[in-house]
Amino acid sequence: MLNLQLGIRYTVGKISQEPRHEIGSSDFGPQACVELRFPRSGSRLTPCHESVDFRWKDYCPKVFRHLREMFKIDTADYMLSICGNDALRELASPGKSGSVFFLSHDDRYIIKTLRKSEVKVLLGMLPSYYHHVQMYENMLITKFFGVHRVKPFGGRKVRFVVMGNMLCTDLHIHRRYDLKGSLQGRWTDNGEIDENTTLKDLDLKYVFQLEPSWREALLKQLVCDCRLLESQGIMDYSVLLGLHFRAPQHSATLSPELSTVPTNLTHSSCVTYANEQAGRFAEMGCSHRGLVLVPRQPGNETSTPGLHVRGSPLRAPAGGDGEVDLLLPGTARRLQIQLGVNMPARADRRFDENDACREDKVLEEVHDVVLYLGIIDILQAYGVTKRIEHAYKSLHYDPLSISAVGPKVYAKRFQEFVSSIFPPTTNQTN
Ligand code: ATP
Ligand code: CA
Ligand code: CA
Repeated sequence: MLNLQLGIRYTVGKISQEPRHEIGSSDFGPQACVELRFPRSGSRLTPCHESVDFRWKDYCPKVFRHLREMFKIDTADYMLSICGNDALRELASPGKSGSVFFLSHDDRYIIKTLRKSEVKVLLGMLPSYYHHVQMYENMLITKFFGVHRVKPFGGRKVRFVVMGNMLCTDLHIHRRYDLKGSLQGRWTDNGEIDENTTLKDLDLKYVFQLEPSWREALLKQLVCDCRLLESQGIMDYSVLLGLHFRAPQHSATLSPELSTVPTNLTHSSCVTYANEQAGRFAEMGCSHRGLVLVPRQPGNETSTPGLHVRGSPLRAPAGGDGEVDLLLPGTARRLQIQLGVNMPARADRRFDENDACREDKVLEEVHDVVLYLGIIDILQAYGVTKRIEHAYKSLHYDPLSISAVGPKVYAKRFQEFVSSIFPPTTNQTN
């Protein structure tokens, strides 16, 4: 982890000092990689450090520099989030693939170790991905900020990607789902369901009513994103869906303090107040870095970094449950870009009463939700292993119900599934 942080600090620092130029085809591909040694004792280019000697490799650093800029990532912020002391914490392995995950202390970045084949897929699709990011500001696909490799002296090569955390929000995520649109084996079998359980397709009991224009925008974007993945021969990706419930019993802990916020704060007393609140939120298990109140009047907005509480005077939003919108540093715009989507919605039952779907007490009670979603795990090509898995499982199950299918079938099924959990409201046509 220390090697990784040293490497990222070096790479990001160095590249940000170079003059900017347009990206060309020579910035992609294996020839655009940079390798460097980090001896313990330091070198002309690298600092001395406490870890073992290691070799560092950067994949297409110029392209990722541009990508970070397009994603509105501030370089100093980025380094602070990832490279500070205690900045990263390892997550209890969330996937089955054996990849190791780290989360930055501010929850904004996830670092995932990749197999060599996954790096190859990523580099292969990078030109198309780059183009896609340029085209679609609200793409749902994971945001990649850098790909690197570390080789400690006498050790194995470890490759990893830095990406955006799809569920980075100061609203509490009460339920999370990893959805593929395939059914075979797609449920969780460990007893209790709670906030930390990643649930699957068959655990999802609800469909979501979105405001029609949101729904249309979401499904359109989904089509564009799937088209990219299909064109790259990718399958096995998921929608990661996070739900925040807006019912009074869930937001009550946040509302009492906020509803009594003084409305005549000066800028500096506002920041002090905000930081006090930040401490309180932290105790309640909400993570963020400071808090700023943003007046509602246009043109009168503070740009101070920090958590933004919108609405001045603070009051309950239209939903009426006393909750206040909490936005991440860098204003709502950045939050939207970071998540793709942050949508209020209404949850309705997906299965009928007799369905053998698992009970989930929280879902029984609440209906107003805020949704966070994005497409993750997009580096699996339909190669030999997946083809064998397809052939083998097809002997036992309906071939369309298993997750290992070709990219075209995968994309179609995936889109149909996502559309089905966002049905049109009664007065909408499809
Ligand atoms: P497998 O291939 O077996 O599905 P994996 O090791 O490739 O597993 P992922 O599917 O990428 O792992 O991720 C596993 C879990 O980690 C996801 O279900 C999700 O909960 C979390 N996760 C992965 N990427 C992100 C992300 N960008 N933002 C938030 N959470 C993520
Ligand atoms: Ca996965
Ligand atoms: Ca995977």
